[in-house]
This record gives sequence, C-alpha cells and structure tokens, in this order.
Amino acid sequence: MVEISAVHKFFGDLHVLRGVDLEVERGEVCVILGPSGSGKSTLLRCINELERISAGRIVVDGELMGLREVTRGTTTELHRRSDKDIARQRSRIGMVFQRFNLFPHMTTLDNVMEAPRKVRGWDKARARTKAEELLTMVGLSDRMEHYPAQLSGGQQQRVAIARALAMEPDLMLFDEPTSALDPELVGEVLAVMKQLADSGMTMLVVTHEVGFAREVADQVVFMDEGLVVERGTAAEVIGNPQQSRTRDFFAKVL
Ligand code: ATP
Ligand code: MG
Repeated sequence: MVEISAVHKFFGDLHVLRGVDLEVERGEVCVILGPSGSGKSTLLRCINELERISAGRIVVDGELMGLREVTRGTTTELHRRSDKDIARQRSRIGMVFQRFNLFPHMTTLDNVMEAPRKVRGWDKARARTKAEELLTMVGLSDRMEHYPAQLSGGQQQRVAIARALAMEPDLMLFDEPTSALDPELVGEVLAVMKQLADSGMTMLVVTHEVGFAREVADQVVFMDEGLVVERGTAAEVIGNPQQSRTRDFFAKVL
C-alpha cells in the first residue's frame, strides 16, 4: 500500500530524511516512534505530498507519487505529475494532526460534511448520512450540532478523525494525535483509532503511546536522525531492541 525507498529530504542544508525505506501493507497498522526532530512528521508529510521529497521514491496504492534524484545538490524530478493528480491522490489519504484544526464557525456535523460536499460534490443528504454514521462510530451522535469550542479536546480530535474518514480514504496518517490532549482524554481517541484499525484501515501512526503500539501495531518503526534504525513487530522493536539507539530511547520513555 505504501512503499518508501531511499527517501531523502533537505530543508536547505538541513538533511532531515537520510535514506528512509519503509513498506506498509494494505490493512496494516504501522506505528512510528522516535525522538523529537528525527523526521517523523516530515516523513508523513512527504507521503501525502505536503512536502516534496528531495530524492527517492514513494508509491501509494500502486501510484508513483514522487521519484527524484539529487546530483551535486540539485534535485531532478524523474516523474512529473499534474496538480490534479496530486490533489486526487491526496484526497484519498486522510490526515489527523496533533492540533485538531476544525472549522470553528461550523457545527460538528458541518465540519464532517464539508470536504465530501466540496471535493467530491456529494449532495447534502448523502454527505449528512455519511457524517452521521461516522460521528456515531466515534461516539459523538449527541454532539452533532455543537461547535468545536463547546467540545473537549478528545471530542474535537474524534471529530477530526470522522472528518478525515468522510472522504473515504484508503490510508490514514496520524501525527501525534493525542499529544495535545489532557491525559484523561487520550484513551477515548486511542480507542477510536483501535476500532479503525480493527476495521481494516491502513494506518501510519506517529505517537509516543507505546501501549498503543504494543496493542495495535502490526509493524513498529523506530526512527532516529532521519533514518529507520529498526523495524519489526512491537515485541521485537519495543520488547527486544537490537540497536543501542533504540534501547536508549525505550529505556527513557518506558
Ligand atoms: P517531533 O517529535 O518533535 O514532532 P519529528 O520527528 O516529527 O519531531 P520533524 O518535524 O520531521 O521531526 O523535523 C525534523 C527536522 O526537520 C527538525 O530538525 C526540524 O526542525 C526540521 N524541519 C521540519 N520542518 C521544516 C521546515 N519546513 N523547514 C525547515 N526545517 C524543518
Ligand atoms: Mg513531529
């Protein structure tokens, strides 16, 4: 479903991704762990082309997203795609960030209905039926007419998940979805993510929630300094890390 080969990303002189390889199968949940600044967010942003890779290859769902090479500091684009293609592909990838970014002037229901109506051109009834179904799934059937400011952080994040799912994505990217939440609200968001995983969604999740990784991840990836240092099952990577950098990290966070 996602194939990442030898991906590099520079921000100016800063070499943030330094040859990342990663493969995620359809229906798989891949949890990415690693210290601050290791390039986790950048990697997710490259997958849906919020950032353009400097070199390497990314394929999502059989479609070549980016293929570039760098020679003497100059990036050559080996595969050019139209903006329309990029937009179409991006609309099939849902993304949930640390900050919920809901539209503050819209109700919960309208937040979830917005993209399918605007981007997919669904009529109101169809978008509403879908939104009601998703908001019920995330446990917010009694909050449909509320505005974001009237919801807790955990509820807002569940709306954000429902909003991403309204576009019927094939792939969901989560970037520290619970990091901004009060501790007592983390569980309700992780529960929704677990439910989504159980439904067969392909998910890439950057999180510091090691418990979630152990319970839900099919694959755990440890990143440091722009590289995948170690990948495997949770039992392998968290339970029995082979690399000293991985061991040091888990010694600190566990
Ligand atoms: P965290 O756990 O703190 O979220 P991360 O692993 O997600 O960290 P990234 O956000 O991917 O790390 O950042 C990796 C490096 O790239 C950092 O040094 C960061 O400062 C730098 N960086 C990220 N985005 C940009 C940008 N748009 N321009 C310049 N540098 C950037
Ligand atoms: Mg980050």
